Amino acid sequence: MYWPHYPELLATPVPRYTSFPTAAEFRPGIGPADMAEAIGNARGDISLYVHIPFCEKICWYCGCNTAAANRAQRLASYMDALYAEIALVGTMLPADVRIARIAFGGGSPNALAPAQFEHLFAQLRDHLPLVADPVVSIELDPRSLTDDWGDTLRHIGATHASLGVQTFAPHLQEAIGRVQPQETISRSVELLRDAGITSLNFDLMYGLPGQTWDDLAESLALTVQHHADRIALFGYAHVPHMLPRQRRIDDSQLPGQEPRFHMAERGYAFLTGAGYRAVGFDHFALPGDPLARAAEEGRLHRNFQGFTDDASEVLLGIGASAISSFPGLLAQNEKNTGRYRMMLSQGRHPATLGVHRATADMRRGDAIVALLCHGRANVGGLLDPDTRERLEPFLARDLARIDGRLLTIADHAVPYARSIAAVFDPYRIASTRKFSTAI
Ligand code: SF4
Repeated sequence: MYWPHYPELLATPVPRYTSFPTAAEFRPGIGPADMAEAIGNARGDISLYVHIPFCEKICWYCGCNTAAANRAQRLASYMDALYAEIALVGTMLPADVRIARIAFGGGSPNALAPAQFEHLFAQLRDHLPLVADPVVSIELDPRSLTDDWGDTLRHIGATHASLGVQTFAPHLQEAIGRVQPQETISRSVELLRDAGITSLNFDLMYGLPGQTWDDLAESLALTVQHHADRIALFGYAHVPHMLPRQRRIDDSQLPGQEPRFHMAERGYAFLTGAGYRAVGFDHFALPGDPLARAAEEGRLHRNFQGFTDDASEVLLGIGASAISSFPGLLAQNEKNTGRYRMMLSQGRHPATLGVHRATADMRRGDAIVALLCHGRANVGGLLDPDTRERLEPFLARDLARIDGRLLTIADHAVPYARSIAAVFDPYRIASTRKFSTAI
């Protein structure tokens, strides 16, 4: 499908809206009492996110809260604090709550030794009300995925995994500080399939320094060849003023907006042509994968992991910098691992930042999520004159239309989805510097 290119509509950086309000709006003043109240109000099945802020090697482009896992003592101290948080949260959960999904992310959970990871899982089982067969997903770094991880993943019943692939091109891997030969990725895929992973995601990037369409096409073709069930195709966001580790990337080689736009457009055409279903604005899934089914059936959601079929209203984040999401509260744990450990050594819940979601925020958040997940939203009551004015350039170019209260994003307007959603975000008008470009 042809995407019309209007550079002026993509020039303003916009959030990815993995939450609303976004993390840029989090403020100090949220703490243990807020968490106790929100956790105490949780009911039924909820989801859990566990953050491991370590990696074997740090990639130059990375925007995650992570550090090199090169000091065993530091890692062990972090795990002790994590166990303390798990035990603490276990005492705060109401009796009728069950944890039906667990996502491990980071960093790279496989920066831990497999035995250490199994011990972590045992702590979750011992202290938290897990259902008998929770849906377990895990982010993995192929470079440190040793053979013994196969047994560990089988033992914990993991079915979903996400591999940080980014690109298969050796010269681009060098340019972003993440060297992982194709054999490493192929071996990881084999290991994961043998371990019982039924939904395997590849993270890929366009807009890398020196990257051409041919480079991207080759990575996409290899991804299809490796039978990835899901693909997240992200535009590389170069924000060295916020992420100093990106200063190692040669920005003179970064593709401009136009080649980025066309890489995204051709990538979309390539993957949908190869049988993947487009999910939201940057995910793709094979028909039959739970994410594709959720998109098909209008059950797609958005949370801190991106597009998801997880319908839970409560996502409990555990670990340094982890974010918890409740209907009326977003709360982030202390990011600094030293301070995180200290708070838990004092028996305190480590939430330090966040925002209470007022009814107006929830209404706007629902509209933003609906636009990004389903391409349409009921915007009744949200179209004040200023919002209408911000929407006008998109309406005038047939990128969106309004019928009564229903705002619909046109099929060919995928790259503008975040920008259209941002029209309903009153916070972004004050600050744009913190976000990536829309394409
Ligand atoms: S492996 Fe992933 S989390 Fe770790 S530094 Fe690289 S991109 Fe970041």
